Amino acid sequence: MNADHWSSHPDLGEVVVAEKDLQRRVEELGAQITADYQGRPPLLVGVLKGAFVFMSDLARAIALPVEIDVMAVASYGSGTTTSGVVRIVKDLDSDLAGRHVLVVEDIVDSGLTLSYLRRGLLARQPASLEVCALLVKESRQRAPLDLRYTGFHIPPDFVVGYGLDVAERYRNLPDIRVYRGPVPVE
Ligand code: 5GP
Repeated sequence: MNADHWSSHPDLGEVVVAEKDLQRRVEELGAQITADYQGRPPLLVGVLKGAFVFMSDLARAIALPVEIDVMAVASYGSGTTTSGVVRIVKDLDSDLAGRHVLVVEDIVDSGLTLSYLRRGLLARQPASLEVCALLVKESRQRAPLDLRYTGFHIPPDFVVGYGLDVAERYRNLPDIRVYRGPVPVE
């Protein structure tokens, strides 16, 4: 399915990050991570479900024997905003003690989800803990971010695609687009 197919969809607005720009930036991030983690391959921790597309592309752009684990979190809140209260729905399989952990996040809005996650993961005593976030919404942060790697800064619209959903839809869009449809009721 190519990107043009989605342009006529009434719930989808303009492209915020195009497929080719995503690919190029993921390659750059992969090269930077490869250089930074020489001799200490990281454990990539993907935050599901949103990060699944980004993590699969990023992992293949890193030329190191990385390990991969995933955790799933759910935030309480309405359809398109976060309350900052996060519930771990699926925990990691790996022991983080002494590991170089690189958290792979899809999008940071207020930063509350990430700050909660970071506290929880640091308590498990990794050798290092850094974050790679594909998207950061401009001027929405309510918690300090401290992101080692960032893909793109985007305006504060609600977006879907490349792993990001609304009510589980549109994760399979090849690019990132503004969502203009009805806000789902949870
Ligand atoms: P934060 O806690 O930083 O406010 O929110 C982060 C989480 O909210 C993300 O991991 C993601 O699940 C969700 N989120 C925030 N903004 C968007 C958005 O524009 N689109 C989608 N699909 N999810 C978002």
